[in-house]
Amino acid sequence: MRLRNIKGSREAIAEHPLVIKEEQTYKGRWYELFGNDHPIHIEVGMGKGKFLTELAGNNPDINYIGIEKYSSVLIRALEKCEGYEGGNILFIRMDAETIADVFDKDEVDRIYLNFSDPWPKDRHAKRRLTSKEFFSRYDQFLKDDGRVIFKTDNRPLFDFSLEQVREAGWILENYTYDLHHSEYAEGNVMTEYEEKFSAMGNPICRLSAYREK
Ligand code: SAM
Repeated sequence: MRLRNIKGSREAIAEHPLVIKEEQTYKGRWYELFGNDHPIHIEVGMGKGKFLTELAGNNPDINYIGIEKYSSVLIRALEKCEGYEGGNILFIRMDAETIADVFDKDEVDRIYLNFSDPWPKDRHAKRRLTSKEFFSRYDQFLKDDGRVIFKTDNRPLFDFSLEQVREAGWILENYTYDLHHSEYAEGNVMTEYEEKFSAMGNPICRLSAYREK
């Protein structure tokens, strides 16, 4: 996914008002940046931002934060926001490993993980955004009744994720191995990867998880 040779993307991002710098300093204060206390939904590993920008346009009473590791990818999401005046979307360029330093307890209502990198080698399992290590990070700032919603076409990663939900002590609210032909298809907003892989005929898996508090 990493786009190379996008000249000046780091600089463009450094100056962009929708990209929040020194993100840890806003822990517990994200509502100040949005200027309201609407629910906050985040996408971790947002990529080029189609999913999140579309949701922001559709849901003006929800605040969205897109998190992406690479400037060269994030810049594509910023291009999609040009001229958008909804005021309900912000971005952070960071590695999600330190995400628990950025949000306070109960600060986030929903976490979207879409087509997360599979990290196929066993020794890299902890880097998967649906590993139990990541669920314990999400546990620190997701509201009690909040949800983690994960989509992928990668069946081994999906099966791993189903296991990790249980191992982390979370509960599967529902899941499907074929989202587009399921009861959850209605209102589904497609991501860039989802469009690409479903056009190739790959079924899309989706799960929703929460914990009992
Ligand atoms: N969610 C998008 C979609 O469905 O079209 C992009 C999917 S792409 C395969 C995964 C994205 O997650 C990449 O842009 C990658 O840079 C980002 N990513 C992977 N690990 C990350 C991490 N630890 N922190 C932040 N972003 C990450």
